[in-house]
Amino acid sequence: MQKSDQERDLEQKELQSETIPIQNQEHEINADEPQGGSEQVEASSSAADEKKEPKKRVRKTARASTKETKDAQEEPRKERTTRKARSVEERSSKRRRESEPTEADEEQMVFPEVLPVLPLKDVVVYPFSVQPLGVGQERSIRLIDDVMRSDRLVVLVAQKSADIEQAGPDDIFRIGTVSRVGRMFRMPDGTLQIAVQGLERVEINEFTQEKPYLMARITPRPDVQEEDTETEALKRNVISYFQRLVALVQNVPEGVAAATLNLEEPRQVVYVIATFVQMDLELRQKLLEIDSVHEKLAQLSSFLTHELEILELGKKIQTSAQEEMGKMQREYLLREQLKAIQRELGEESEEQATVNELRHKIDEAHMPEEALKEANRELSRLEKLPTASPEYSIIRTYLELLVSLPWSKGSGERIDVAHARQVLDEDHYDLEKIKERILEYLAVRHLKEERQRAEAARERELQEGEEEEQKGTTQPLQSQEEKRVINREPILCFVGPPGVGKTSLGQSIARALGRKFARISLGGIRDEAEIRGHRRTYIGAMPGRIIQTLRRVETNDPVIMLDEVDKVGADWRGDPSSALLEVLDPEQNYSFRDNYLDLPFDLSKVMFIATANALEPIPAPLRDRMEILELSGYTEEQKVHIARSYLLPKQLEANGLKQGEMTVDDDVIRRVVREYTREAGVRNLEREIGTLCRKVAKQISEGQPSPIHVTADDVPEYLGRRRFFEEAAERLDRPGIATGLVWTPVGGEIIFVEAATMPGREERLILTGQLGDVMKESAAAALSYVRSNAVELGLPRHVFENQNIHIHVPAGAIPKDGPSAGVTMVTVLVSLASGRRVRSDVAMTGEMTLRGRVMPIGGVKEKVLAAFRSGIRTVILPQKNEADLMEDLPKELRDQMHFVFATDIRDVLEAALEDEPVSKNGKEDSNVRRKRKKDKEKEKAGAHA
Ligand code: ADP
Repeated sequence: MQKSDQERDLEQKELQSETIPIQNQEHEINADEPQGGSEQVEASSSAADEKKEPKKRVRKTARASTKETKDAQEEPRKERTTRKARSVEERSSKRRRESEPTEADEEQMVFPEVLPVLPLKDVVVYPFSVQPLGVGQERSIRLIDDVMRSDRLVVLVAQKSADIEQAGPDDIFRIGTVSRVGRMFRMPDGTLQIAVQGLERVEINEFTQEKPYLMARITPRPDVQEEDTETEALKRNVISYFQRLVALVQNVPEGVAAATLNLEEPRQVVYVIATFVQMDLELRQKLLEIDSVHEKLAQLSSFLTHELEILELGKKIQTSAQEEMGKMQREYLLREQLKAIQRELGEESEEQATVNELRHKIDEAHMPEEALKEANRELSRLEKLPTASPEYSIIRTYLELLVSLPWSKGSGERIDVAHARQVLDEDHYDLEKIKERILEYLAVRHLKEERQRAEAARERELQEGEEEEQKGTTQPLQSQEEKRVINREPILCFVGPPGVGKTSLGQSIARALGRKFARISLGGIRDEAEIRGHRRTYIGAMPGRIIQTLRRVETNDPVIMLDEVDKVGADWRGDPSSALLEVLDPEQNYSFRDNYLDLPFDLSKVMFIATANALEPIPAPLRDRMEILELSGYTEEQKVHIARSYLLPKQLEANGLKQGEMTVDDDVIRRVVREYTREAGVRNLEREIGTLCRKVAKQISEGQPSPIHVTADDVPEYLGRRRFFEEAAERLDRPGIATGLVWTPVGGEIIFVEAATMPGREERLILTGQLGDVMKESAAAALSYVRSNAVELGLPRHVFENQNIHIHVPAGAIPKDGPSAGVTMVTVLVSLASGRRVRSDVAMTGEMTLRGRVMPIGGVKEKVLAAFRSGIRTVILPQKNEADLMEDLPKELRDQMHFVFATDIRDVLEAALEDEPVSKNGKEDSNVRRKRKKDKEKEKAGAHA
């Protein structure tokens, strides 16, 4: 209470008369700013006790200036209020009671017409409210000094914006509060601390001076007080809201809430509560400006309900969050207790069991040192984590992967070349070249491994001897690199159309070596992470396909087939082929690092085999690593063989049929090959044979006596309508159409090249049918050749003059590019110009130069097979491809077909075109046509029989 004494001294010295008690004035008050909670509270809680008197006075003045008659009627009530107020007052100190305003003071409530005006920043002082204020501006200090010397009355008005220093008449509101400056302290830095008490609302009319401070003419604007029950109800609401609010916020002390309960007058309620509640300046000023007390209460009430809603919701959220926390803590505690109990009972907790199991598995996994260290470190982290933590499951999953990888578990089989040959022959018909290469590969590997093993054994002996010699001295650790013999054998890559046995060769190799077989399909992979995995920090991270596969096969030396390496894409997610390169590179793959595993894994024992349909799309660095073994399609005879000796037994077994329950003629297979499939490989053939077996199995299970013998005539009954026709003969019925041969990744195909002319000045060449650039160029070259050699070709000198030429290659789904259609284009154009038809049983392929030379092309075998499949027996080929043909094509096919080898385009035309031109409109004469029609009908009837 030292301060209070000091205060009292000050009071007596400076103020000498009526004071407004303000306690604990020790806080610093900032210039022109609203005051901190507790101080305001204490100032006003005492103010609340004291304010009855000024209120009464204001009422009086208000009545006096408005309605004197009513005043008299209200006298009894007023008396009551006064009495009640007095009883509250009795609690105040005696000294204060003594200095209470007397009747004489009340007289003073008639204010002078002109008063000084003090602008306030962010503060609205209401009648009844007592507020401490800091005064820092020089002009304001002067103002206060002046008023302290006279009646101590000043008009306090809020500034429209707190940013303005030295606010002028336009920067302040028009409604303010006449206040009395109660006490004043001068601070050491020259600023003032004052306490003010609001007395009455006034309106500022005009400014009489601006310098040194503002002075203005004023009119009192007493509040309009309604005396109805609604106002009373509103008042009670506001008080009860305020009580609730005080319970939720920290900055209003309890004393204030209690004090408001004692307030009688509605306007007192508004002003006192508004002083304590935090709201923005706009609303504060509005509460002052509204004339009706009823309206003031309504505004305040709606503000308070809104505040309460927000605060109560916030409280609710906070409480439920706390409850959740409490629950987790409780669970944690209970779990710990459970553990303790289990320990006491000598039982294992679930977590402990997991950890023990993992530890056991780590011991069994025989990991290399680095992996073992990591595994143990992660395990000890796991032990410390609560099971509920998300990290727990991440670490556990990781550890489970670590222990399930085949770090040192191999199938242990040694390579036996003789056995491998036997297995390959058992599983595959023909494919001699390929099998030979595979066996060579295995032989080399075998030899190397043997040598390596012998070397290792010798070294071990030597080492043991040395150890004997220098027992006790420490040995330098022999590094892994020194011992490792790098296997520089290229990776084998089988390239060929689907269904030619690439995958099954891989399976056979695995079988021959007694190792596990796994496939990784790379088709459509664009993300490097598919190969190499995601870092463990990502949610849902997984190891890449290589590690996943090894985990699945459970040995570290499987045969892994990387399917479709030609379909690996690259984009912004990284280049999978670079990851593949690392996998396949023997220099690197002994320490392959998967992002998820984050430890080196030795892939050097894995035997990788790649497959592809086409060679070109394989990324060059990858192709470089690999030795390409091409498997082309099969001839009809080969297919029949494969079907009889391999596919049929397999399908019989797959469909639960016993040997001998079903017998099939070779003609059946031939018919299925010809009429139900058109493919380079045997995949569809296998499927159709499967269907056949299934139907027979159904018949047997329905009670038909076995064996069931299937003949060629039964095929439609089992497999439905014939699916493929030899269409070449049907389509080449007029000049301007020829059969060409193309190579595609799924085998050879025949295509029809068509040409037509129509009058046109520009002599344009129109090309349609999704042709590639190279094929477009050969079309242009063909046209130029025909034009420039028209006479030699027996055509009119100005052939195609004033005509547009359209060349079309139907079947948009077959990719058509490359130069090999050159000869076909020329043939079509010459046929069109001469009116001679192209022979329907002839197909051709070959690149052509502008001078008419026929150049060699690729894919001869596939193309010839395709021609044969379509019923064509004569194929025109470049002379230079003759050697390929002799080498690649099986003799039985060569014997069945006729080949024309061309060096010049004239050789092609001679073999391809019919001798006689047909009639002008492209139709043959009616006799010939009739004969052809009859032939066709006969043919069709035969097919349906
Ligand atoms: P790819 O992998 O080339 O697409 P697959 O290996 O899946 O083809 O072969 C399809 C089916 O054809 C398999 O059942 C396979 O055994 C069989 N097959 C293919 N070529 C031969 C062959 N030369 N000898 C025996 N069966 C073969």
